[in-house]
Amino acid sequence: MNKTPFVTKEKLEEIIKDIPTPFHIYDEKGIRETARKLKSAFAWNKGFREYFAVKATPNPFIMEILQQEGCGFDCSSYTELMLSGRVGAKGDDIMFSSNATPDEDFKLAYDMGAIINLDDFTHIDILDNLTGIPETISCRYNPGGEFKTSETGNVMDTPKDAKYGMTHEQIIEAYRVLKEKGAKRFGIHAFLASNTLTNEYYPVLAGILFRMVVEIKEKTGVEISFINLSGGVGVSYKPDQPENNIAAIGEGVRKQYEEILVPAGLGDVSIFTELGRFMLAHNGALIATAIREKHIYKEYIGLDACAANLMRPAIYGAYHHITVMGKENQPCDHEYDVTGGLCENCDKFAIDRMLPKIEIGDIIYIHDTGAHGFSMGYNYNGKLRSAEVLLKQDGSHKLIRRAETPEDYFATFDFTEKYNFKK
Ligand SMILES: *Cc1c(COP(=O)(O)O)cnc(C)c1O
Repeated sequence: MNKTPFVTKEKLEEIIKDIPTPFHIYDEKGIRETARKLKSAFAWNKGFREYFAVKATPNPFIMEILQQEGCGFDCSSYTELMLSGRVGAKGDDIMFSSNATPDEDFKLAYDMGAIINLDDFTHIDILDNLTGIPETISCRYNPGGEFKTSETGNVMDTPKDAKYGMTHEQIIEAYRVLKEKGAKRFGIHAFLASNTLTNEYYPVLAGILFRMVVEIKEKTGVEISFINLSGGVGVSYKPDQPENNIAAIGEGVRKQYEEILVPAGLGDVSIFTELGRFMLAHNGALIATAIREKHIYKEYIGLDACAANLMRPAIYGAYHHITVMGKENQPCDHEYDVTGGLCENCDKFAIDRMLPKIEIGDIIYIHDTGAHGFSMGYNYNGKLRSAEVLLKQDGSHKLIRRAETPEDYFATFDFTEKYNFKK
């Protein structure tokens, strides 16, 4: 697949006059289209709903767009719950999946009426003592072992090493206890592999959860009302990687549903998803300017953005495609390391990447940063978080988060006169 920026060079030049680089930009049209594709892939399920994983792109303007497309929100912390509250989500609009959960987080989730997804068996008593058990409750399942695709048997991930969820025995006991404590509506949730590039991930996961739901009904009498397939559907970051087909994924889940749930008299169960990456990754980009070049043992291009703006290459060695704006048709005959300015050698957006010749001042478009991009940012080396910009459907743009200033960096010292920024 050819990777093409969703915004033109002319438009970027216009935005940069307003908002200096670096910034993340998001494509409203693409976000809405992705949400609609997902919805139509699961239209066969009456209660289907996507709970957007807020951690991927925690910006209320983005969340509002998704809300207009019918999405709820998946939160895992106090502030994510607050964010969802600010955009007007409440009750069943929110799923709260957290681990090592602080008391205050449980309390806020309960007060907002969010669907609480218990990560551990011990959380039943903790929640009961804090707030009581709500009528609607969900449990997170960890089947242990290795998680394999059905056809090739390739290992997708190793749940036995993951810190999340309850074991088989624990989760069955959990539903028994929760029912005893007065819960009336139950859900189950599992997240077994991340950034999967196979149409099989959701169907295989669905098969595991659906069989579990049948077993829970047989062993405890509890009828599960919703099954949350969580996140993990990936996107292609590399131009030569095939893209997941969400329609095929939805069909694959439907097949499992009809084979396992319907015959067990569980044909009313709602399917939920909690996709972050699939919804937003392709619909965002990091825009930077080439500000320095360097010729030593390798050729380097230095950007005004760094790993503090996009951490994935530094921590996962993740590939992000790069387009030099205006040079799309020039030959990629120069080999560069494209770097940020952190005092960390892993701060490289690309290593040994073949690109067109880059001149100082060129606009660098780093693809697919819409999920787990800005949100993983940090302040190492005193680097400041960038702005976020929305490219609206009508072609205009809007600042949806301003860039941090040194004053923001100093704000947490402001309790002391000595280091007060204004001093
Ligand atoms: C991170 C996360 C997601 C979203 O994962 P993606 O890979 O972005 O789809 C969904 N649910 C939970 C509980 C998560 O922790």
